[in-house]
Order: sequence, then C-alpha cells, then structure tokens
Amino acid sequence: MSHDPTRWRHLSPTADDPLSQRGWQGEAACRTLPPELFFPGGRTGPAVELAEAAKAVCARCPVTEACLHYALDTNQEYGVWGGTTEDERRPLRAAYRRRSDPGADPSEIARGAAS
Ligand code: SF4
Repeated sequence: MSHDPTRWRHLSPTADDPLSQRGWQGEAACRTLPPELFFPGGRTGPAVELAEAAKAVCARCPVTEACLHYALDTNQEYGVWGGTTEDERRPLRAAYRRRSDPGADPSEIARGAAS
C-alpha cells in the first residue's frame, strides 16, 4: 500500500465546507495512512481484516467523536469513520436522523442506538 498523503481524501472536505473549519482533520490519526485501509471495499475476507485494522487506528485517534459526528452529519455511507464501519453506522445514522438537534453528541446517539 502507498503512504502518499495526497491519496488521503476521505477526511478532506472542500474548503467551502463549513465542517472543514473545525480543524479536527488535522489531528486525525489516519491523516497519513492510505485511504484503502479505511475503504476496504467489501464485507468479507481481507476487507474485514482491513476494517478491523482501520478501527484499531480509530481507537487511538484523538478526534474519533468529531469524525463520527462528521460522518453522520454528511451521511457517509462507505468506509470506516469514527471507529465504525458502514454497517455499524447504519443504525446510528437512523438514530441521528431522528434527532432534531444537529449538534447532538454522537456518543450519546451511539449509546442510544446500542440500547
Ligand atoms: S476516527 Fe478513524 S477515520 Fe476518523 S479521523 Fe480518526 S483515525 Fe481517521
């Protein structure tokens, strides 16, 4: 796999995206890792191992909550974001949509979806 940071795009919203002003992307543990790790492209075999490896990176990332919030805010359907796979985010997204407060804490939502 390449470590070319120019290929790292999944946390690079456009400059006119207000979420890019938050600055959390600069703290991302995955900042210099290949995007393929976070977009394993499947749900079986090697893709499962890649997703688990990506989640291990997320587990030591200082901006996990902001990342998950971003993924839910922007409806990211694919890849690992905030320590969650697309399958794990699906119920979170549904819970997130039900919330009227767009600033709701994604950790609270995750706890609510898990209960
Ligand atoms: S939580 Fe994971 S995907 Fe999000 S910025 Fe951190 S390492 Fe990257």
